[in-house]
Amino acid sequence: MTNPTPIILYVEDNPENRLLVRRILMAEGFDIHEASSAAHALQVLKSLQPDLILMDINMPEMDGYTLSGHLKEMPHLRRVPIIALTANVMRGDRERILGAGFDGYIQKPVDVDSLPEDIHRFLSEVGHG
Ligand code: MN
Repeated sequence: MTNPTPIILYVEDNPENRLLVRRILMAEGFDIHEASSAAHALQVLKSLQPDLILMDINMPEMDGYTLSGHLKEMPHLRRVPIIALTANVMRGDRERILGAGFDGYIQKPVDVDSLPEDIHRFLSEVGHG
């Protein structure tokens, strides 16, 4: 059975975070795509079928809570894991994150060593990687 390169979409308004995550995930062999806003993500997703979406929560215009809710209503994305990448995991945030349509979360600051492992774990939960 072939195991195609997992396609990851990372939605993040901070260019430094995008650069860091791109470097880590490219080195790991993922096919990494980026969007700098929720609107940009909605545009990209018209022609991209990712295996997993990594998403910042605090973004201007439309935040990750709202975007993940929208994406989970789209039939072609319903089974795609959406993982929050966020520093805001305090009391009550975990419940809010998981209730908003996210399938899990990874805490910032991004850990170079554990990020690839975390993504492989989320992918394996849905039958990839
Ligand atoms: Mn942000």
